[in-house]
Amino acid sequence: MAERPTLKPWIEAIHAYVPGKSKTSDGRPLVKLSANENPLGCSPKVLEALAGKHQPNFYPDPDATALREAIGAAHGIDPARIVCGTGSGELLHCAVQAFAGPGDEVLFPRFSFSLYPLLAWKVGAEVVMADAVDYEPNVDTLLAAVTPRTRVVLLDNPNNPVGTWLPRSEVERLHAGLPADVLLVVDQAYAEFLEDGLDDGGMELAARADNVLVMRTFSKAFGIAGERVGWATGAPHLVDALNRLRGAFNVTASGQMAALAALSDPEFVRCARDANNASMKRFIDDLTALGNHGVRCLPSKANFVLVVFEGDLDATTALEAIGEAGYAVRHLPGQGLPEALRITIGTPDQMDDITAVLRRLCEGAA
Ligand SMILES: *Cc1c(COP(=O)(O)O)cnc(C)c1O
Repeated sequence: MAERPTLKPWIEAIHAYVPGKSKTSDGRPLVKLSANENPLGCSPKVLEALAGKHQPNFYPDPDATALREAIGAAHGIDPARIVCGTGSGELLHCAVQAFAGPGDEVLFPRFSFSLYPLLAWKVGAEVVMADAVDYEPNVDTLLAAVTPRTRVVLLDNPNNPVGTWLPRSEVERLHAGLPADVLLVVDQAYAEFLEDGLDDGGMELAARADNVLVMRTFSKAFGIAGERVGWATGAPHLVDALNRLRGAFNVTASGQMAALAALSDPEFVRCARDANNASMKRFIDDLTALGNHGVRCLPSKANFVLVVFEGDLDATTALEAIGEAGYAVRHLPGQGLPEALRITIGTPDQMDDITAVLRRLCEGAA
């Protein structure tokens, strides 16, 4: 008999989350451009709702009824086909747990949301990563990586950390190429940042197919990451599976209030999107204007840019200098990206600071 409780071997392989640096070397707090949070905060309606009448002694509505009705009305979805979660993170866990286990494979693009491998490892399933093509998710490599053991395919679209986006034709081609018994999860965490008219068709697939879930979150464009609210939609049997596995009172009372208020202010989300897209375009143009120092921005449809350092300046040096200037950005060597930094789009002034640091380094390196 072992002398203490023994971890399951597949849990042994999991490392606890390691947060990035939060202070400069002389102890000043860093401005976080590392978690794709909203630099504009959230809608004033959310702050009003949270300051209003609130009775924390009562359990929340376990079914988030009012919130699901409001989401349904906003998206034209039957609320019975919607399930809310403690962030979309909880629902991603539930989706993988429901359909994959030991001996099964969970497939996703080589560069994807850092949570995805954990979803598979937690249930003892194997991670399979499809090759990227110049960092981007690719439908051909995904389809080629499907085996009889594939149970779940995860696609974050726009992609995190790369920022690129697959159009409807590609998402449809991916779905059409998957066996009917493989679950496709289209994770639309950044969908609110897409320009009008851009739609990857995930919602339509979730409405008509038996094997598609779409995940959305209030953490990014809505700016209430701290309240932990997300939702999923799909066929009734898929929603039922998530409902069995989610926490009974998973969305807190304040989370439900905050998300309802956030939904009532679509103008805030549009403003956040437009500010993000303008600020991001300027940032990319400014870095591109640095010339041939090998600092390359991948095109992004989200609220961050993946900057790849392919020349005389390397990502570690850039990370340190940006840190000394007071900013935390994301270096992802653990995800196979030692040569890149993922930089969240902050306010225009913050982006100008980052640009100035990189310009100084490029000129110094020349
Ligand atoms: C931020 C993010 C989420 C959202 O997670 P929450 O748990 O809702 O905060 C989901 N998917 C991706 C790809 C993300 O980047």
